Amino acid sequence: MRGDMEQTIPEPPRIQLLDGATIDRIAAGEVVERPASAVKELLENSLDAGAGSISIKLEDGGLTSLTVEDDGHGIPFRDLPLAFERHATSKITAAADIMHVGSFGFRGEALASIASVSRVRCVSRYSGEEMGGMIELSGGELVRREPAPRNCGTTITVSDLFFNTPARRKYMRTAQAERRAVIKLITRFALAHREVRWQVREGRDVLLDLMPAPSLTDRTRDLLGAAVVDHLARFSFEKGGFSISGLASRPTFTRGNRDHQYLFINRRPVQNATLSQAIHQAYREVIPAGRHPVVIAFLEVPAGEVDVNVHPAKTEVRLLLEREIFGMLKKALQEGLNLREFSELRPWAGEEAARPEDGGASRDGIAKAQDDYLREHFQRGGSAGYEFKGVPRGQGELFGSRALREGIPAQGGTSLAGEPGPVPADSLHPAPFWQLHRTYIVTQIRGGLVLIDQHNSHERILYNEARQSLAEGGRRVPTQQLLFPAHLELTPGQVQAWQGHAEELAAMGFTVEPFGGQSILVQGVPASVKNWNEGQLLLDILDDLAWDDHPGQQDQADLLASYACHGAVRAGEPLTVPEMQNLVDQLFATDTPLSCPHGRPTLIQFSLAELEKRFGRT
Ligand code: ADP
Ligand code: MG
Repeated sequence: MRGDMEQTIPEPPRIQLLDGATIDRIAAGEVVERPASAVKELLENSLDAGAGSISIKLEDGGLTSLTVEDDGHGIPFRDLPLAFERHATSKITAAADIMHVGSFGFRGEALASIASVSRVRCVSRYSGEEMGGMIELSGGELVRREPAPRNCGTTITVSDLFFNTPARRKYMRTAQAERRAVIKLITRFALAHREVRWQVREGRDVLLDLMPAPSLTDRTRDLLGAAVVDHLARFSFEKGGFSISGLASRPTFTRGNRDHQYLFINRRPVQNATLSQAIHQAYREVIPAGRHPVVIAFLEVPAGEVDVNVHPAKTEVRLLLEREIFGMLKKALQEGLNLREFSELRPWAGEEAARPEDGGASRDGIAKAQDDYLREHFQRGGSAGYEFKGVPRGQGELFGSRALREGIPAQGGTSLAGEPGPVPADSLHPAPFWQLHRTYIVTQIRGGLVLIDQHNSHERILYNEARQSLAEGGRRVPTQQLLFPAHLELTPGQVQAWQGHAEELAAMGFTVEPFGGQSILVQGVPASVKNWNEGQLLLDILDDLAWDDHPGQQDQADLLASYACHGAVRAGEPLTVPEMQNLVDQLFATDTPLSCPHGRPTLIQFSLAELEKRFGRT
C-alpha cells in the first residue's frame, strides 16, 4: 500500500463548498462563544421586536439552559422554521440597507448559529395571529413544529449549548463565571434600554429585577447602587449632528479597573479602543495612575457614520469620523466634569514626575529611601520633638470602642480646628498635636515639622492592617461587636459581591450572616474603622465590588482599597489629641507610611533647614 502511494502523484486537494450544517457551526463559533453571547443575540431580537419586558432564566449560569422571554411582536407561524435558517432576516432586504440599520440584528445568522450547536425550543405568537406556534431543533435539525397557545411574544430556550462540539464545551468556565457574564451583559443593555423591564432569574433566585426607569440616574442607581450614583455628574455635548451625553464620576471617585465604563453608540453597547482612550486622556491629569473613572456615555451618530458590520457579534464598531468623535468625548467629559479646573487643585500637584507610570522601578527606590529617612527622623525625635515609639501591631484601637458601639464621639473632648490640643499629663509624647481645618494633623519632629493628611494616613493604616489580616487568615484585625446588629437590604449587585467576598470580609473583621432573601445581618465590624455609618460602609464596599470579574490579586486589591477608602476618617472630621497621636503612631508602624493605597502622599515634611532658609537665617 505504502509503496503504491509513493509512486503515484497525490490527488490535488479539491475545493468544495461546505454543506450548510458545517457553515452554521463555523459561524456559531464566531457569534456564540458562551451562554452570555447566546443571551445577547436573543435579547437583541427581543428589543428589535419592540419588547417592553424581557426576562432571562438561567440554569447553571446558562450552561445547562438559558431562556429569553419577551412580549414583542412575535414570529408568524409560517416563518418559524425560516427564522432558524441562515441569512434569514426580516430586518434588511438589500446590502445597501446595512449602513443604515437601526435594528440590532440584520445578518440573519444568530438563531441559525445558536440552533446548530444546541437544542432549541421556541414558542412564539405573532401579534397578527390568533394562535401561536412551537418549534424544536436539535443541532440545527428540525425536530418538531406544531401550533401552541401563547400570549403575543416569543420565548426561546437554548439547552446543552455546544453538546455537539465537545472541544468548545470543554472551554466553558464555571456556572458562576457565566452567570456574572450574563449579569454584566444585562447591566449594559439595561442602562441603554430603560423603558424595558428586565428580569434575570436562576432557580428561585432573582438576580436582577429592574422596573422601567424614568431616567438614566434612576436606572444607574438600581444597577450600581446609590453609593456610586452619588459620585456621578451629568455631561452632554452636541456638534454637527453628533451628540454625547451621560454620567461620569467626579475625579474623587475612581475604580481599580475599567469595568464601570459603559459606551453606547446609538444605544448599542460597544467596545472601542479610541473612545476608551478619550476617557483616559480626559481624566489623566486628575486621577492617580492605575485608577479609572466610572463613565456611562451615550453617543448618537448619524447611522451612516458607524459601521457595525466589522464583528460578527457587533460589539466592536468602526467609526468613520473616529478622530472627531474622540475629541468630542474627551471635551464632553472635561467640560461636564470641570476636569481642567480640578487639575489645578489636584492634591499631588508637583508629584507628577514621581508617579509610577512615568517613574517605573526607580520610583520604588526613591520611596524606600524616603521611608528610611523619615523613620530615622521620627525615631530619634528625643525631647525636642514627637517620638515615634511604635505600637504593638494590631493592638491599637484607633477610635475607641464606645464611640463605635454607641455612636457618640470618642472620649477625650473635641479639639478645635487650629488650636493646639491639650497634652495629656502622662504623655510620652512631649510634642503637641494640632488639627488644621479638621483635615491635617500638624506636629513637631526633631528635624522640623510634618503635616499629615488624616484621611490618607488612616487609609494606609486600614489597608495594611486588613492586607496583613487576609494574608494570615484573619487574626490581625480585632472585631468590634455592635450593640445593635444592623440589618441591611442588598441590591442584586451587592448580593453578588457579598457572595464573592464573604470569607475575605470575615477575615478583615466583619461579622456578617445571611438573613434571608437579599438581606444580611451585621454583628461586628473591624475595630479600626471610623465611619461605620449604620452599615453604609459595607454597602459602599459591596457597591465598589459589584459585578467585578477579576478573580485573584486585582480583586483583593480592589476590596482592600475600597475598604480603606470608605472606612477611613474623612477630611472635615474633628479628632481628639489621643486620636491624632494614635493615628500618627499607627501610620509609622506600617511599612509604607509615606503614601496612601492610591499613591497619594500621607504627609509633607518641612525641615528646619528649609525654614531657616526661608526666614533668611542662614
Ligand atoms: P437577525 O436578528 O439578524 O435578523 P436572527 O437569526 O437573530 O437574525 O433572527 C432571525 C429572524 O427571526 C429575525 O429577523 C426576526 O424576524 C425573527 N425573530 C427572532 N427572534 C425574534 C423575537 N424574539 N421576536 C420576534 N421575531 C424574532
Ligand atoms: Mg438577531
